[in-house]
Amino acid sequence: MHKDNYSNIMDIVEKLRNVNLRPTKQRILLANQILDGTNKHFTAETIQKEVLSKGQSISLATIYNCLNKFVSVGLLKQIDQQGEVTIFDTNVSCHHHFLNQETGELIDIEPDEIGFSKLPKIPNGFENDGIEVLIKLESKNLV
Ligand SMILES: [Zn+2]
Repeated sequence: MHKDNYSNIMDIVEKLRNVNLRPTKQRILLANQILDGTNKHFTAETIQKEVLSKGQSISLATIYNCLNKFVSVGLLKQIDQQGEVTIFDTNVSCHHHFLNQETGELIDIEPDEIGFSKLPKIPNGFENDGIEVLIKLESKNLV
């Protein structure tokens, strides 16, 4: 059953309150855009484009503020990678990724698809908080 927009918004407000975030207009707008229950990877720029295409406007700085807040309360995850763009992930569980280096697209890899036979000693005073692998993809040079 497709939810009407109003009950959707009420769900979002509750989701924000559950993690002690004040449901501001911008947070609701972004959470509604991002947290629709599907796993996806995105950048602040792509979210801004989506919001603009719906006839609403929001600055990139505001988007980054909100997304970083969402990350800090565990609603979102930030993918660590080399490169200029920050990619956010709605799947907050520990999992791995393929990175298509040509398009920047990330593809989820289930945790049980990767095993480890050797790990370094964790430095004193720290514990292992999760291992996330990024496998970089490059097109094969087909002749
Ligand atoms: Zn992911």
